Order: sequence, then structure tokens, then C-alpha cells
Amino acid sequence: MTDYVIGIDIGGTFTKYGIVDKDGHCLKENFISTDKYTDFDVYLENLNTEIEETISTLGNPVAIKAIGIGAPNGNYYRGTIENAPNLNWKGTIQFVEKLREYYPVIPIVLTNDANAAALGEMIYGGAKNMKNFIVITLGTGLGSGIVVDGNLVYGHDGFAGELGHMNVKHRGRDCGCGKKGCLEAYVSATGIKRTVFKIMTERVIESELRNISFEDLTSKMISEAAKKGDQIAIEAFELTGRILGVKLADAITCTSPEAIFLFGGLAKAGDLLLNPTKQYMEKNLFPVYRGKVKLLLSDLTETNAAILGASALAWKELQK
Ligand SMILES: [Zn+2]
Repeated sequence: MTDYVIGIDIGGTFTKYGIVDKDGHCLKENFISTDKYTDFDVYLENLNTEIEETISTLGNPVAIKAIGIGAPNGNYYRGTIENAPNLNWKGTIQFVEKLREYYPVIPIVLTNDANAAALGEMIYGGAKNMKNFIVITLGTGLGSGIVVDGNLVYGHDGFAGELGHMNVKHRGRDCGCGKKGCLEAYVSATGIKRTVFKIMTERVIESELRNISFEDLTSKMISEAAKKGDQIAIEAFELTGRILGVKLADAITCTSPEAIFLFGGLAKAGDLLLNPTKQYMEKNLFPVYRGKVKLLLSDLTETNAAILGASALAWKELQK
């Protein structure tokens, strides 16, 4: 019987899960709604039922050795999800403890979704032979996973390395976390939309983006416009890259990584984002680091990267 783990990725809208082997092959994956459930216990019961059904359809019996979970505001030490702004369940959710009622024997580990993405990059992606690197996930927000000497940095309380909530501007934009001027309020799919709207109010130049409402605008539309030479879209990427580059230079000072990987929807803009980020990162680096840190796009495709990341967490736990 081949050994497998279950990788679970909890997002605000969907919870995706997959049965994954050691080489990162996903035998089967599926999802359930996250936001449909206001009651966490009902959600967990349904998630478990779905997973059992998925396993029963596999034909051959499989040995599930561990479960790895990536979740917003996930705490590795406590196995909890704590005050996640995008989830229905408020306060502290004892996720691992409650899931253990269904799986009492095997190891169950949980971490924040960006940390899981970093482990996915390390075990299945472009960071395979690296011991020091940072993964930045650019979705609705900005997440980050920092690996030092081959291990994720969790810190004293388990929430280390939230680069998205470093300050980039005194009294700057409101952030979903309640603070002002956080990096993710500028550098994320939502952040660049806010930037586009700000530039549009300040400039009189024509732009196809002027006909799109804030709700309808996507980062993909902005990158498509930029590729066609739209000046507002190009400026928005310049500004986004500048803010990201300066903060990455700060992050490099803390951990001296070999590479920084960008992952997620906004990273698909490629050079539009990479070039200004690289330029400002280099410019702001303490000289001893200059020209040494690679800025790369993630090797993992978005389709099941989150599941792979969560399963990588499970495999890493089994190695211990
Ligand atoms: Zn914040």
C-alpha cells in the first residue's frame, strides 16, 4: 500500500483538499465551500465526510499517514486559526484538536497558508535545493513564508514573518488588520486596484481602466492594459514594484535569503512587477547583499499549489 497524506487548504471561499504522495502527485483533489458554513462544527463534519467519500472512490486502499493544513492566521504551535478576517468563524478556532476527533492516530499539523506555500516551494518547487528563501504570496492580501537554514521561521508565538503587515507609510492606507499603511494595502491584488484608482484621480491621461468599476477591476485587467501600453496601468505596476522592492530589501537584511519567490495572481504579471521590484530592491539593499539575491516567480502552478503546500507540511512533519 502506498503512503499518502491529506493536504487541506482553507480559503475564504473554498476549502480544497487532495490526497498527495511523497513526490507531490495529487491522486485526487476536491473542494467544499468555506463561507457557506457559519457553524465551524458543521463545516468540519462535512469536510470530513467529503474527504472520506473521496478516499472511498479511489479504488485501491491507501494509507493516510498525516494531515497538513494551510489556513489564514493559522498557528503552527497551537493548531489554531486565530481571528482570521476572511473567515466566518471569529475568535480562536481549535482546528487541529477538533479534527483529531476524526483522526485520532495520525499527525495533524496546521500552519498559515503562506508558510504552507513556502514548504510547497521547498519540497516540490523552485526552492528544492535551497535552505534560505522567502515566498511572497500575492492574492487578495500579501502573505509570506520565511525559511532559514531549512526551517520555517515561526518565532516565539508562531506568527513570525508577516511581511504583509510591515509599515510602508506613516498614516497610510487602511489595512484589513486594523492598522494603517501596511504593505498589503499597497502590494496585493486589492492594493494595486487602489493604486490604479488613486492615479486615475490624480492624472488626466486617458485609460481604458477608467470605464471599469472598482468591484469589476481585476489585477489581470491591469496587467493586460499595461502590456498594451496603458500609462496608468504601467504607473500602477511601477509604484507597486517600488514599494515591494524597498520592503524586500528590508526583509533581506533580516534573513539573507538565496532567493525570493513571488507567487499568486498578481505575480502572473511577470516582468511588469518583477522589473521595478528588482530595481528598487537592489537600489535599497545594504551593499553586502547587492547582486546576490534572486527574485523569481514561483515554480508551482496555482491550481493545486496550496494543496501541495499543505501536504508538504504533513510530509515534513513525518520526517521529524
Ligand atoms: Zn495590516
